[in-house]
Amino acid sequence: MIIRRIASALKRQDLSQVIIEIMIVVVGIFIGLQVDDWNNDREERVTERAYLSRLHSEVMQNLSFNADNFEEFLLLENFKATAKYIDEVLDVFEGIDTETVLNDRHCMAIFASDIYNHQQSYLPTLTELIASGQLSIIENEDIKIALSEYTLSFNGLELQVTSLGNVRLELHAKYPLMFKFDRRMRNLVDTDQYSNHCDFDAMKENQSFNNDLIVNRAKQFYFILVLSKQQQALQNVHAVLDEELGISHGGASQ
Ligand SMILES: [Zn+2]
Repeated sequence: MIIRRIASALKRQDLSQVIIEIMIVVVGIFIGLQVDDWNNDREERVTERAYLSRLHSEVMQNLSFNADNFEEFLLLENFKATAKYIDEVLDVFEGIDTETVLNDRHCMAIFASDIYNHQQSYLPTLTELIASGQLSIIENEDIKIALSEYTLSFNGLELQVTSLGNVRLELHAKYPLMFKFDRRMRNLVDTDQYSNHCDFDAMKENQSFNNDLIVNRAKQFYFILVLSKQQQALQNVHAVLDEELGISHGGASQ
Protein backbone atom coordinates (compact mmCIF):
# COMPACT_ATOMS: atom_id res chain seq x y z
CA MET A 1 0.00 0.00 0.00
CA ILE A 2 2.68 2.45 1.12
CA ILE A 3 4.96 1.29 -1.71
CA ARG A 4 2.15 2.05 -4.17
CA ARG A 5 1.72 5.53 -2.66
CA ILE A 6 5.49 6.20 -2.91
CA ALA A 7 5.52 4.95 -6.52
CA SER A 8 2.59 7.18 -7.35
CA ALA A 9 4.25 10.21 -5.68
CA LEU A 10 7.44 9.46 -7.61
CA LYS A 11 5.45 9.32 -10.81
CA ARG A 12 3.96 12.71 -9.97
CA GLN A 13 7.48 13.89 -9.02
CA ASP A 14 6.01 14.94 -5.65
CA LEU A 15 9.23 14.83 -3.64
CA SER A 16 7.79 16.05 -0.34
CA GLN A 17 5.13 13.35 -0.50
CA VAL A 18 7.89 10.75 -1.15
CA ILE A 19 9.84 11.97 1.88
CA ILE A 20 6.74 11.92 4.12
CA GLU A 21 5.87 8.38 3.03
CA ILE A 22 9.45 7.17 3.63
CA MET A 23 9.45 8.89 7.02
CA ILE A 24 6.23 7.03 7.92
CA VAL A 25 7.91 3.72 7.03
CA VAL A 26 11.08 4.54 8.98
CA VAL A 27 9.20 5.76 12.07
CA GLY A 28 6.94 2.68 11.90
CA ILE A 29 9.94 0.34 11.84
CA PHE A 30 11.61 2.31 14.62
CA ILE A 31 8.52 2.11 16.89
CA GLY A 32 8.16 -1.61 16.11
CA LEU A 33 11.78 -2.25 17.12
CA GLN A 34 11.39 -0.15 20.25
CA VAL A 35 8.30 -2.08 21.37
CA ASP A 36 10.14 -5.33 20.68
CA ASP A 37 13.15 -4.13 22.70
CA TRP A 38 10.91 -2.97 25.51
CA ASN A 39 9.15 -6.35 25.65
CA ASN A 40 12.46 -8.25 25.64
CA ASP A 41 13.82 -5.98 28.33
CA ARG A 42 10.72 -6.45 30.50
CA GLU A 43 10.99 -10.24 30.14
CA GLU A 44 14.69 -10.10 31.04
CA ARG A 45 13.97 -8.03 34.14
CA VAL A 46 11.37 -10.58 35.29
CA THR A 47 13.85 -13.43 34.71
CA GLU A 48 16.64 -11.45 36.41
CA ARG A 49 14.46 -10.86 39.46
CA ALA A 50 13.63 -14.58 39.69
CA TYR A 51 17.33 -15.50 39.50
CA LEU A 52 18.27 -12.92 42.13
CA SER A 53 15.54 -14.19 44.48
CA ARG A 54 16.83 -17.74 44.10
CA LEU A 55 20.39 -16.58 44.71
CA HIS A 56 19.23 -14.81 47.84
CA SER A 57 17.57 -18.00 49.20
CA GLU A 58 20.74 -19.98 48.51
CA VAL A 59 22.96 -17.40 50.20
CA MET A 60 20.63 -17.47 53.21
CA GLN A 61 20.82 -21.26 53.31
CA ASN A 62 24.60 -21.17 53.16
CA LEU A 63 24.78 -18.59 55.93
CA SER A 64 22.15 -20.17 58.15
CA PHE A 65 23.56 -23.69 57.71
CA ASN A 66 26.34 -22.67 60.03
CA ALA A 67 24.06 -21.03 62.55
CA ASP A 68 21.54 -23.90 62.54
CA ASN A 69 24.09 -26.64 62.93
CA PHE A 70 26.91 -25.20 64.94
CA GLU A 71 25.67 -21.99 66.46
CA GLU A 72 26.37 -18.64 64.97
CA PHE A 73 29.14 -18.46 62.44
CA LEU A 74 30.23 -21.86 63.34
CA LEU A 75 32.92 -22.24 60.97
CA LEU A 76 35.01 -19.17 61.20
CA GLU A 77 34.42 -18.61 64.91
CA ASN A 78 35.11 -22.24 65.73
CA PHE A 79 38.32 -22.30 63.75
CA LYS A 80 39.43 -19.02 65.30
CA ALA A 81 38.70 -20.39 68.78
CA THR A 82 40.67 -23.56 68.03
CA ALA A 83 43.59 -21.44 66.81
CA LYS A 84 43.48 -19.35 69.99
CA TYR A 85 43.64 -22.46 72.20
CA ILE A 86 46.53 -23.92 70.19
CA ASP A 87 48.42 -20.64 70.54
CA GLU A 88 47.93 -20.89 74.30
CA VAL A 89 49.25 -24.48 74.28
CA LEU A 90 52.34 -23.42 72.34
CA ASP A 91 52.87 -20.42 74.63
CA VAL A 92 52.73 -22.70 77.67
CA PHE A 93 55.03 -25.28 76.07
CA GLU A 94 57.53 -22.56 75.15
CA GLY A 95 57.39 -21.04 78.64
CA ILE A 96 56.05 -17.70 77.37
CA ASP A 97 52.77 -18.24 79.26
CA THR A 98 53.20 -19.40 82.86
CA GLU A 99 49.64 -18.54 83.98
CA THR A 100 47.35 -20.62 81.77
CA VAL A 101 46.43 -24.09 83.02
CA LEU A 102 45.92 -26.34 80.03
CA ASN A 103 42.57 -28.16 80.06
CA ASP A 104 40.30 -30.42 78.01
CA ARG A 105 39.37 -27.56 75.70
CA HIS A 106 43.03 -27.14 74.78
CA CYS A 107 43.18 -30.90 74.19
CA MET A 108 40.19 -30.65 71.84
CA ALA A 109 41.93 -27.85 69.93
CA ILE A 110 45.06 -29.98 69.49
CA PHE A 111 42.90 -32.85 68.24
CA ALA A 112 41.12 -30.49 65.78
CA SER A 113 44.31 -28.78 64.61
CA ASP A 114 44.27 -30.70 61.31
CA ILE A 115 40.61 -30.26 60.41
CA TYR A 116 39.88 -28.09 57.38
CA ASN A 117 36.38 -27.88 55.97
CA HIS A 118 33.94 -25.27 54.77
CA GLN A 119 30.74 -27.36 54.62
CA GLN A 120 29.25 -25.29 51.82
CA SER A 121 28.37 -25.82 48.21
CA TYR A 122 28.83 -23.32 45.40
CA LEU A 123 25.59 -21.39 44.81
CA PRO A 124 23.62 -23.62 42.37
CA THR A 125 21.85 -20.73 40.66
CA LEU A 126 25.19 -19.10 39.93
CA THR A 127 26.37 -22.33 38.32
CA GLU A 128 23.19 -22.33 36.22
CA LEU A 129 23.63 -18.68 35.18
CA ILE A 130 27.22 -19.29 34.10
CA ALA A 131 26.50 -22.60 32.32
CA SER A 132 23.58 -21.13 30.36
CA GLY A 133 25.55 -17.99 29.46
CA GLN A 134 22.92 -15.84 31.16
CA LEU A 135 25.11 -14.10 33.70
CA SER A 136 24.87 -10.91 31.62
CA ILE A 137 21.15 -10.76 32.43
CA ILE A 138 22.18 -9.26 35.77
CA GLU A 139 22.39 -5.50 35.29
CA ASN A 140 23.56 -4.38 38.73
CA GLU A 141 27.35 -3.95 38.60
CA ASP A 142 27.71 -4.33 42.38
CA ILE A 143 26.01 -7.74 42.25
CA LYS A 144 28.21 -8.83 39.34
CA ILE A 145 31.36 -7.79 41.21
CA ALA A 146 30.18 -9.46 44.44
CA LEU A 147 29.39 -12.70 42.58
CA SER A 148 32.74 -12.70 40.84
CA GLU A 149 34.57 -12.12 44.14
CA TYR A 150 32.50 -14.89 45.72
CA THR A 151 33.48 -17.28 42.90
CA LEU A 152 37.17 -16.44 43.25
CA SER A 153 37.12 -16.83 47.02
CA PHE A 154 35.07 -20.04 46.88
CA ASN A 155 37.47 -21.60 44.37
CA GLY A 156 40.41 -20.46 46.48
CA LEU A 157 38.89 -22.08 49.54
CA GLU A 158 38.17 -25.32 47.68
CA LEU A 159 41.78 -25.49 46.52
CA GLN A 160 42.99 -24.78 50.03
CA VAL A 161 40.77 -27.45 51.61
CA THR A 162 41.87 -30.01 49.01
CA SER A 163 45.57 -29.28 49.27
CA LEU A 164 45.55 -29.15 53.08
CA GLY A 165 43.41 -32.30 53.19
CA ASN A 166 46.01 -34.12 51.12
CA VAL A 167 48.72 -33.47 53.73
CA ARG A 168 46.70 -33.77 56.93
CA LEU A 169 48.76 -34.48 60.00
CA GLU A 170 46.54 -36.29 62.51
CA LEU A 171 48.28 -35.84 65.82
CA HIS A 172 46.10 -38.37 67.68
CA ALA A 173 47.01 -41.00 65.07
CA LYS A 174 50.72 -40.22 65.19
CA TYR A 175 50.89 -39.88 69.00
CA PRO A 176 48.05 -42.18 70.18
CA LEU A 177 49.24 -42.52 73.78
CA MET A 178 49.03 -38.78 74.36
CA PHE A 179 45.24 -38.68 73.87
CA LYS A 180 42.27 -40.17 75.70
CA PHE A 181 38.96 -39.35 74.04
CA ASP A 182 35.50 -39.03 75.56
CA ARG A 183 33.06 -41.40 73.83
CA ARG A 184 30.29 -38.73 74.00
CA MET A 185 32.27 -36.75 71.44
CA ARG A 186 30.36 -38.46 68.61
CA ASN A 187 27.00 -37.05 69.78
CA LEU A 188 27.82 -33.59 70.95
CA VAL A 189 28.69 -30.55 68.92
CA ASP A 190 29.35 -28.38 71.95
CA THR A 191 32.97 -29.06 72.82
CA ASP A 192 32.48 -27.85 76.40
CA GLN A 193 30.14 -30.72 77.17
CA TYR A 194 32.64 -33.54 76.88
CA SER A 195 36.14 -34.15 78.06
CA ASN A 196 39.03 -35.28 75.93
CA HIS A 197 42.18 -35.70 77.94
CA CYS A 198 45.68 -34.96 76.76
CA ASP A 199 48.99 -35.83 78.35
CA PHE A 200 50.30 -32.27 78.15
CA ASP A 201 53.54 -33.11 79.99
CA ALA A 202 54.43 -35.79 77.43
CA MET A 203 53.46 -33.46 74.59
CA LYS A 204 55.60 -30.63 75.92
CA GLU A 205 58.69 -32.83 76.20
CA ASN A 206 58.33 -34.34 72.73
CA GLN A 207 60.08 -32.16 70.12
CA SER A 208 58.51 -34.00 67.18
CA PHE A 209 55.07 -33.37 68.62
CA ASN A 210 55.87 -29.67 69.11
CA ASN A 211 57.07 -29.39 65.51
CA ASP A 212 53.95 -31.12 64.21
CA LEU A 213 51.65 -28.90 66.26
CA ILE A 214 53.43 -25.79 64.98
CA VAL A 215 53.09 -27.03 61.38
CA ASN A 216 49.37 -27.69 61.91
CA ARG A 217 48.93 -24.23 63.40
CA ALA A 218 50.69 -22.66 60.41
CA LYS A 219 48.43 -24.52 57.97
CA GLN A 220 45.43 -23.50 60.03
CA PHE A 221 46.50 -19.86 59.82
CA TYR A 222 46.29 -19.90 56.00
CA PHE A 223 43.06 -21.87 56.07
CA ILE A 224 41.41 -19.32 58.38
CA LEU A 225 42.65 -16.52 56.14
CA VAL A 226 41.04 -18.04 53.04
CA LEU A 227 37.88 -19.05 54.90
CA SER A 228 37.49 -15.49 56.25
CA LYS A 229 37.72 -14.11 52.72
CA GLN A 230 35.13 -16.55 51.44
CA GLN A 231 32.70 -15.86 54.29
CA GLN A 232 33.12 -12.13 53.76
CA ALA A 233 32.47 -12.53 50.03
CA LEU A 234 29.29 -14.51 50.75
CA GLN A 235 28.10 -11.79 53.11
CA ASN A 236 28.84 -9.16 50.47
CA VAL A 237 26.70 -11.08 47.96
CA HIS A 238 23.94 -11.13 50.57
CA ALA A 239 24.23 -7.38 51.20
CA VAL A 240 24.00 -6.38 47.51
CA LEU A 241 21.13 -8.81 46.89
CA ASP A 242 19.23 -7.43 49.89
CA GLU A 243 19.70 -3.94 48.54
CA GLU A 244 18.60 -4.79 44.99
CA LEU A 245 15.61 -6.86 46.13
CA GLY A 246 14.65 -4.41 48.90
CA ILE A 247 14.91 -7.09 51.59
CA SER A 248 15.45 -6.23 55.23
CA HIS A 249 16.17 -8.75 57.97
CA GLY A 250 15.14 -6.60 60.88
CA GLY A 251 18.59 -5.33 61.77
CA ALA A 252 20.40 -8.68 61.62
CA SER A 253 23.10 -8.88 58.97
CA GLN A 254 22.08 -12.42 58.06
ZN1 LIG B 1 18.77 -11.13 52.77
